[in-house]
Amino acid sequence: MLPIITHPNPILRQKARELTREDILNPKFKKLMADMAETMLKKDGFGLAAPQINQSIRLVTVNNNGEIAVFLNPKILKKSWRKNIAEEGCLSIPNVFLPIKRHSTITLEFLNLAGDKQILKTKDLLARVLQHEIDHLDGILFIDKAEKIN
Ligand SMILES: [Zn+2]
Repeated sequence: MLPIITHPNPILRQKARELTREDILNPKFKKLMADMAETMLKKDGFGLAAPQINQSIRLVTVNNNGEIAVFLNPKILKKSWRKNIAEEGCLSIPNVFLPIKRHSTITLEFLNLAGDKQILKTKDLLARVLQHEIDHLDGILFIDKAEKIN
């Protein structure tokens, strides 16, 4: 299991770099992804972004009902005007749970493990988790957004 970096470590505030095809095909990278997914499951996280394991790269893993999904260089193409509010937590900010407003539906572009471009339209919990994790890649934490609700 990998150690989880916690707030206020500066790596959580950096903009993570894009992955290259060489990164994606590197066996070390595959090992890192597997370790990251295992860490996420053991910690009962809905999702994990690479900066949380001290890697400033654009890699996100998500636990979608026990099934692990990996998103490389994820980018939100479209966001619904409709938003909803739900309580969120973060493995990097233990014991803090706050209501956060997120877009209800998003359309996402990302690379899969083979380095091929994929498009995914998703809503509700998965859309929320992906917005939270992609924020991590841009150095944004959910506590930043909580303040804007009132
Ligand atoms: Zn988080």
